[in-house]
Amino acid sequence: MAAKKARPRNGEAGSRPGRPGGAGKPFRRKSCLFCKDKVSEVDYKNVNQLRRYISDRGKIRGPRITGACRKRQRQVAVAIKRAREMALLPYVAEAGPPSRSRSSERS
Ligand SMILES: [Zn+2]
Repeated sequence: MAAKKARPRNGEAGSRPGRPGGAGKPFRRKSCLFCKDKVSEVDYKNVNQLRRYISDRGKIRGPRITGACRKRQRQVAVAIKRAREMALLPYVAEAGPPSRSRSSERS
């Protein structure tokens, strides 16, 4: 059988019909969790928190999705990259074998 091609699920490239032009502010701005919790610095060791800012494919979500402000978004991006280096977060989430089918069965 043909393997299913995994689709990237980032909404950036997608053209949405009901998208606001940008003049007004129709969307409610979500207060970012870091400012809300008064986190001075994003901790790269806090994987559970960082996981909310990456997609199921392991990619960093945009600030529009996460609701983080630019300052925090940047910190999150840095923290995620650092966490990846420390092998705390995956570079690519295992949502499916991209090239070869490594059948490692584990439960
Ligand atoms: Zn913020």
